[in-house]
Amino acid sequence: MSTHDHADPNCIFCKIVAGQIPSKKVFEDEELLAFHDINPWAPVHILIIPKRHIPSMAEISDADAPLLGRMTALGTRLMKELGVTGGFRHVINTGRDGGQEVYHLHLHVMGGPRPWLKG
Ligand code: 5GP
Ligand code: ZN
Repeated sequence: MSTHDHADPNCIFCKIVAGQIPSKKVFEDEELLAFHDINPWAPVHILIIPKRHIPSMAEISDADAPLLGRMTALGTRLMKELGVTGGFRHVINTGRDGGQEVYHLHLHVMGGPRPWLKG
């Protein structure tokens, strides 16, 4: 099965995975893609997404534990690689009340010296 089998043609992050919308990529492998947020809250603000279209954390089950583990560990590694030394935040927003705007699962990882714009 290819990583694009579950793409949603109306999803902005699926379009980024497919290269139809440009992004500032920081990491890519078969399963994951990481890129800079277009509207950063912090000096360093990246998004880590599964290439497979999963709408949100509301659709996650035990079987996805390895995927989520890889996403969180990649966040830590990328903060180091991007020169963040003073700490960082991992954040996932879920659903309307969770403040989710893009319905393709994404992990925000934010760091760099404060003050930040938000968060
Ligand atoms: P949410 O509120 O869903 O957790 O966060 C969505 C995030 O995606 C926001 O921080 C927003 O700035 C970012 N975003 C939305 N559209 C794009 C885009 O086309 N490119 C990039 N790089 N980030 C985007
Ligand atoms: Zn998608």
